Amino acid sequence: SRGPVRRSSANVKVVVRVRPLSQRETENNSRVIVDVVDDKMIVFDPKREEETFFFHGSKQKGRDMLKKQNKNTQYLFDCVFGPQANNENVFEGSTKSIINSVLDGFNCSVFVYGATGAGKTFTMLGTHENPGITFRTMVELFAQMESQKHDKDFEIGVSYLEVYNETVKDLLNPSSGALFLREDGAGVVVAGLKMERISDPNRMFELLEHGNQNRSQHPTDANAESSRSHAVFQVYIRMKTKSTAQTKMVKLSMIDLAGSERGAATGGAGVRFKEGSNINKSLLALGNCINALADGQRHIPYRDSKLTRLLKDSLGGNCQTVMIANISPAHPTIEDTHNTLKYATRAKSI
Ligand code: ADP
Ligand code: MG
Repeated sequence: SRGPVRRSSANVKVVVRVRPLSQRETENNSRVIVDVVDDKMIVFDPKREEETFFFHGSKQKGRDMLKKQNKNTQYLFDCVFGPQANNENVFEGSTKSIINSVLDGFNCSVFVYGATGAGKTFTMLGTHENPGITFRTMVELFAQMESQKHDKDFEIGVSYLEVYNETVKDLLNPSSGALFLREDGAGVVVAGLKMERISDPNRMFELLEHGNQNRSQHPTDANAESSRSHAVFQVYIRMKTKSTAQTKMVKLSMIDLAGSERGAATGGAGVRFKEGSNINKSLLALGNCINALADGQRHIPYRDSKLTRLLKDSLGGNCQTVMIANISPAHPTIEDTHNTLKYATRAKSI
């Protein structure tokens, strides 16, 4: 049987998903700066044949001397999905395997990380025809609970909140205003957060979609669909073993993070700028917690932001974490893509 502390290196799974070029990127003939080599390897900023050719061409020489060398860096992850992968493939390779851990009593958390437009919400929520991993995870969870129902009774509640500008808002009940966090032993309780009992996953997609429509979104220069909020979907499971009447509570958190691009890139000022810096605060704090966990430090700075306080009982320790890093393959976002690959690499060493 499992010991109380599992080997830490097995507790995080890092998955990278490269979305297809958008129509505009295709029309603009954008250079592709990510090659998916196989199901584990990516080459960032690859050297291309024609570039090598031009480099040796005498006429272009002067110009190409000034041109930055391609980085041509290999990155290895637990799983890599290219532009052809659909949400079912991503589900199979990312969250499907954690459902066992959840039903074994381990808190789990799933993050989608990446710049705005990289495909985070597509991965998490998806569309009616092609639901994302949250819905698929719930369907699988219900199927596995069904197969265990002779041994155990289950009760499921879900909540959906956002952290926006370091303020917590209930996405299922937005009229309740700003909610406060209260320390409660190992974790944190969100006072007044609505918990919806679920007995069938089919209601889930509507619930998620409705919640997503309540997310705070502000158009910015960089991208009209920019999202500066972290959407936190949480599933609480109470399991009661029939033979012993023992009960256990477990939590699965799925988080659609705010865009990881630099605040400066959105050209905002005033309110926008403050929003940007506050979001950076939660993302920065998450990064610092990941760094501290990766370094095996004793002190993990969970208290530094709302997001990390919320996830204190679901990160590190016995928890299972899945990080899905979303990237665009197009050249204009090369800096964001590079940063996301570096962030994901860091998470790998937890
Ligand atoms: P983010 O949430 O990271 O800002 P989105 O999920 O909204 O990004 O994706 C940006 C755009 O790209 C959307 O129009 C979305 O439908 C599209 N898109 C993202 N990923 C994929 C994919 N794997 N296949 C097809 N379209 C995608
Ligand atoms: Mg989004």
